[in-house]
Amino acid sequence: MARVLFINGGSEGHINPTIGVVQELISRGEEVVYFSIEAYRERIEKTGATVRTFDDQKFIKAFISGGRDYLLERINGLLLTADIVIPSVLEQIKGEHFDYIIHDSMFGCGRLLAQILKLPAINSCTSFAQTKVSFDNMLEQFSIKVPAEIVKPINDKFQSLTEMVKEKYDVEIHSPYEVFCNPAPLTIVYTTREFQPYGEAFNQTYKFVGPSISSRLTQENFDFTAIKGKNPIYISLGTVFNQAIEFYKLCFEAFGNTDHTIVMSIGNKAQISDLGEIPKNFIVKNYVPQTDVLQFTKLFITHGGMNSTHEGLYYGVPLIVIPQSADQPIIAGQVANIGAGIQLQMQSLTANQLREAVDHVLSLSSFKKAVANMSESFQKSGGYHQAVDEIFEFKSQDHI
Ligand code: UDP
Repeated sequence: MARVLFINGGSEGHINPTIGVVQELISRGEEVVYFSIEAYRERIEKTGATVRTFDDQKFIKAFISGGRDYLLERINGLLLTADIVIPSVLEQIKGEHFDYIIHDSMFGCGRLLAQILKLPAINSCTSFAQTKVSFDNMLEQFSIKVPAEIVKPINDKFQSLTEMVKEKYDVEIHSPYEVFCNPAPLTIVYTTREFQPYGEAFNQTYKFVGPSISSRLTQENFDFTAIKGKNPIYISLGTVFNQAIEFYKLCFEAFGNTDHTIVMSIGNKAQISDLGEIPKNFIVKNYVPQTDVLQFTKLFITHGGMNSTHEGLYYGVPLIVIPQSADQPIIAGQVANIGAGIQLQMQSLTANQLREAVDHVLSLSSFKKAVANMSESFQKSGGYHQAVDEIFEFKSQDHI
């Protein structure tokens, strides 16, 4: 038995794929101490892990204060979370021994903590993986395309934050890539090499284990008798970029009082009462048990979050992807590339476009076929079982 320190942030998309991994680690005898925010305590505790938390409000405030417009601003935001996460983690684990650390690929300053604690590290990557070369190319585009008077202060801020972190915690940061992607000697990527763009570019330290989809172990109120046998269309923009009242109303306009049954999850930031009259063929909730709903669904209108996309394809559901932000445009492109759905743009979207897109995807058998292929390959991949096999292989190589 080894003691595992698991470091994550506070976002559903980064936590869900780790639930099965932690449960499996514990069932194979590991002891896991999992750092996240209070909102996910119940979900994580049910795996058998010990949960410890850091202040979610301070964490989000620090992250956002880095700026939201450019990638390097988000990297600065991640560096700004160091002072929230690192002292809190160090204080709460004082005097304890850990054998290795598993950290999120983005949130929680995992690479820094691994260095501070001198622990063998495993990176838990819930989106597509990125090579340093492709990441640096992206940053270079930022320097080329954005005016110097905007780029310079953001770059200067990165330099000063890096120095501050180095001085305070005695750790080295060599590049923005290290802050954003937290590379480690082993990276678990929760997709297949086949679905990963440029999958062949990653060396053997990247293990593409496939989607990690497990029972959520939480009780959500949802009446499944209302959708059984009805093949609903499911609509969700995920849990982050989902404040989109106008979009939800557009869905009413496009599909209200049609023969389709629609399940729509609008997230916790919008109020159902703000939507006005709800057409009779709609079931609207702030949150639904998505992986269960998808098992009844004929079509998923999604923002293209990594988890939602995986979950839809895993259960053989064609997708209409309307990317909102972050990695979603890349995921949307990949869905279209493999023929498992189509991409629409949120800007200037009309009810007519939505209706036509649904008719198009539902009527062409090629979408169904591409989705069935991807579903089969996802279901064949090992998911969290494979992830834990890889972790144990890593342990044995490292003599842990
Ligand atoms: N989710 C859910 N019910 C909802 C909305 C979302 O269970 O009503 C889950 C979904 O199954 C997925 C996660 O929340 O696992 C969203 O992650 P994703 O990467 O798709 O998007 P994000 O929320 O990070 O933008």
